[in-house]
Amino acid sequence: MTETKLNADPAELKKFSDLAHRWWDPKGAFRPLHQLNPVRLEWIEGQTALAGRSVVDVGCGGGILSEAMSARGAQVLGIDLAGKPLQVARLHALESGASVTYEAISAEDLARERPGQFDLVTCMEMLEHVPDPAQTIAACAQLAKPGGLVLFSTINRNPRSFLFAIVGAEYVLRLLPRGTHEYARFIRPSELARGARAAGLEVEKVTGMHYNPLAGRFWLNADTGINYLMGCRRPA
Ligand code: SAH
Repeated sequence: MTETKLNADPAELKKFSDLAHRWWDPKGAFRPLHQLNPVRLEWIEGQTALAGRSVVDVGCGGGILSEAMSARGAQVLGIDLAGKPLQVARLHALESGASVTYEAISAEDLARERPGQFDLVTCMEMLEHVPDPAQTIAACAQLAKPGGLVLFSTINRNPRSFLFAIVGAEYVLRLLPRGTHEYARFIRPSELARGARAAGLEVEKVTGMHYNPLAGRFWLNADTGINYLMGCRRPA
């Protein structure tokens, strides 16, 4: 874990660039993200008001969440290291009129440039694609203002999550392209919480996310066995 080595996996970034043209297709490769978006937006607004807040969306991809937070009145900077998703995000914002800013920069580099500047840091469905999640978690913590929030979502690692998030989603139902997720990269809530605490964050909330692919519907509850959200705060 050196400071100069980029904490990114080129094969992972390529995967997202190859799919980027379909990012905003509600029936395309990112359909689950579209279906999840209203639910997670609601959850975020349950943690903090968005209007007038400065937000950085780490691993923003094509900007589904970035645009939604901006529409709620936040000033959003979306960052990612995959080129094509960012191009798609910029084009989409032009079309939709969303005033999101996008930048190709790592969370670590942005944390060095603009430490402690954001009321809210979101890092959703991204940590499970990164070689060293602890380093990304630490960068997210550094980006938050004292008293600010850092909100993560990712996928738990256990036989059930293997069955649902990989076998079910990629092979049986084909909701996601095969190879989207790698089991070994999934992160247990205890591991994410440990990383967050090591980065000086307080863990405030852990919520499970559930999906009924037939109904195309997500909902939240206490079962964090597969997908989950974790809300953390940088102490004031
Ligand atoms: N957060 C968005 C997109 C999730 S897809 C959402 O939930 O809607 C995962 C994103 O993480 C992709 O856009 C991918 O390019 C990005 N990503 C993967 N590794 C990354 C890294 N090391 N640094 C920054 N972004 C990364």
